[in-house]
Amino acid sequence: MSSSVTCNCCQKREAVISLDYSGLDLCSQCFCELFERRVRKANREFAMLRRGDRILVGVSGGKDSAAMLHVLDKLCRKIGNITLIPVLVDEGIKGYREKAKKKAEALCKAHGYKLTVYSFAGLSNHSLDQIIKLRGKSEDPQFKTMGACAICGTLRKYLLNKAALKLSANKVAIGHNADDIGQTFLMNLLRADPDGVSRFGPVSENGEDGLTVPRIKPLIYLPERECAYYCELKGLSYHLGECPYATEAFRGLVKDFLNDSEVKYPGLKFNVLKSYLNLRTQLDVNSGGKKQTSGKCEKCGGKCSRKICRACQVLAFLKK
Ligand code: SF4
Repeated sequence: MSSSVTCNCCQKREAVISLDYSGLDLCSQCFCELFERRVRKANREFAMLRRGDRILVGVSGGKDSAAMLHVLDKLCRKIGNITLIPVLVDEGIKGYREKAKKKAEALCKAHGYKLTVYSFAGLSNHSLDQIIKLRGKSEDPQFKTMGACAICGTLRKYLLNKAALKLSANKVAIGHNADDIGQTFLMNLLRADPDGVSRFGPVSENGEDGLTVPRIKPLIYLPERECAYYCELKGLSYHLGECPYATEAFRGLVKDFLNDSEVKYPGLKFNVLKSYLNLRTQLDVNSGGKKQTSGKCEKCGGKCSRKICRACQVLAFLKK
């Protein structure tokens, strides 16, 4: 902030951040309290945390997962009897993941955790960089047209689920923030895939066969900018670089659109998030509260809406 403004909340300290969507200027302490309140609100509304939980926390070395681990650590200690297990997925992206991994290790160490690492190479014998090269040479039209982020996201989700089963975790916490969720919602609409809305949520259901571990998204009410700000104010270790494949992503277009629109119409991103949550509630009401039953993958047995899940398809391409 350029000139000295007093915090609207405590009326005492100097404000360090302006939240244009609410008109609030907040000092460091009041902003951090608001941030943590929003995580508690998500926990209350979507019943994310329970005593006895063993939660795999997806840590990437980036700001969102750094903020998530810090707040969950604090909150879970308060609730009591919850074990957090930080896990990083190393996709094998040269010049990017190594740096992020170092930051994630430092973050975990500072909080008294040991970071467990799973890699694409361990899963498929190929790093993401190698997979992208193979994609370029592939004659399989389905594999050839898959975006880097689609491959990466599919394998990461599969690997985190596998890790959760191996580590006996009953939940997987993902650092998706309000921006990520709004983007995914719009992407589903733009791809004419409204069913996608019911496939992702603040809390996902367990697979009936126990092979799909539920995922929770404690940062659902936190905008991306505020996650970065929280990390800065709390002195958390995180990596700021951008993945070299990010420019390939359709998500990038949607992200730019939402960021530009938010500048012109503050609060627009929260409106998108609200629309998404309302629509999910409507879908639930219309289905009479019955959860959509999805099938299971013929290969791995995990929850899936097609015969073979996307992860098993990608792994099959790599074996050819
Ligand atoms: Fe993976 Fe895409 Fe994220 Fe890079 S930007 S880490 S390729 S999902």
